[in-house]
Amino acid sequence: MNLKKNDHYIGYVEDLTSQGMGVVKIDGFPIFVDGTIPEEEIELRIVSLKKTYGYGKLIKIIKAHENRVEVKDDLGRQTGTAPLGHIKYSMQLRLKKKIVKDSFERIGKFENLNISPTIGMVNPWQYRNKAQVPVRMVGARLETGYFRRGTNELIPMENYHTQHVQIDETINKVRDILRKYEVPAYDPDSHTGQIRHIVVRRGFYTGQIMVILVTRTEKVTKLDQIKEEIISQVPEVVSLVQNINEKNTNKILGNTTKILYGKDHYEDEILGLRFKISPQSFFQVNTQGAESLYYQALKMAKIKATDIVLDAYCGIGTIALNAAQKAKEVHGIEIIEEAIESARENATLNKIDNVYFKAGPAEKLIQNYQDKPFDIAIVDPPRKGLDPSFIEALVENGPRKIVYISCNPSTQARDCKILAESGYKLEQIQPVDMFPMTHHVECIALLQREIM
Ligand code: SAH
Repeated sequence: MNLKKNDHYIGYVEDLTSQGMGVVKIDGFPIFVDGTIPEEEIELRIVSLKKTYGYGKLIKIIKAHENRVEVKDDLGRQTGTAPLGHIKYSMQLRLKKKIVKDSFERIGKFENLNISPTIGMVNPWQYRNKAQVPVRMVGARLETGYFRRGTNELIPMENYHTQHVQIDETINKVRDILRKYEVPAYDPDSHTGQIRHIVVRRGFYTGQIMVILVTRTEKVTKLDQIKEEIISQVPEVVSLVQNINEKNTNKILGNTTKILYGKDHYEDEILGLRFKISPQSFFQVNTQGAESLYYQALKMAKIKATDIVLDAYCGIGTIALNAAQKAKEVHGIEIIEEAIESARENATLNKIDNVYFKAGPAEKLIQNYQDKPFDIAIVDPPRKGLDPSFIEALVENGPRKIVYISCNPSTQARDCKILAESGYKLEQIQPVDMFPMTHHVECIALLQREIM
């Protein structure tokens, strides 16, 4: 069949991609369609065709899946904050397990996998503790919201559904204050205007709020009045920060930060430990989800009181400090200098003295530990996974267990394959849902050294 753009077809959804799109094959040719569920029969219109696949738009659902739920607010799909919102939550969890299974089978070439059911959340909405919302003029009005997926078109929003309600309220209040003082919103085309983003972070357990006003210029119209109004209208604010980003870039935060009011950090808790979080620090955006992830990872690690533990890619030390309560000593390594400073402060804050932090690239720093054999290594790299030189040095170091936490099952499967070829047996895989309503899945892999 000769497929043509704009033509309509009827098809059966066979599968879900790791990006959360339904796969419909028309004469064997895969078309990816958003907003669909495997086993549904649909009518689609082809919107683009590439050499080996294409994209389609859902026109009509002919036979709906029993787990399809009514979407009350379509903005979550349009902006990409809740692209799986049309699928019953229990099914989302099963689909995420399948995404993990597919990666480990296709990329990792593993068979007979031991994958546990995805651990989900009790309330899969309003889970985010952080929002980074762009500010733009839409017509004559300053608006906040998210961009239509794949575009620069801002869709004004007030209820975001996946963020804590107090974060939504704070964004709306700050927006109204900016409107009142007629602050010009950023225009990326002409690279003019003053206010680019409003970032709000909130401690799930402490209720403390940090507001970051990301501006293009240092000077902002009526900044003093704006500051006073934010403080009086949002009493939970413990830290109000101006971040200056002068560059014409997609990166949200710039390098200069000025404290306008309060402290340079806010605090949250993870499994009973307290953490100071600065504007630039990485902190998992779902506090309860992170607790669940770390709890499982530590359970799988089964740390003994005599163990020396590595926490590579440790951020501000969330995993290391939890592991330190069980281990003899823990070594945390991380590339961002400020994160390591926070990690050290967090150790002091929680009165933990058997942890040692070092800043630098993990693939370099691990070379320094060759005369300090680790019993257990916990690794939690960014999406691109582990560097081959890191894996090589880790295998040479020879921990009896590796607990590999990842937000990208593809690179995790790739790295686990190398570890399996280097003498580590893949014992268990545990997916955890930190990002309900999206295709993202976190996953813990437990590997044991075969030769003791
Ligand atoms: N374990 C932490 C952070 C995980 S995110 C937590 O759960 O909070 C991944 C971390 O890896 C980030 O903090 C990032 O700064 C860090 N990172 C990225 N590349 C790195 C590298 N080459 N070496 C060490 N750390 C790196």
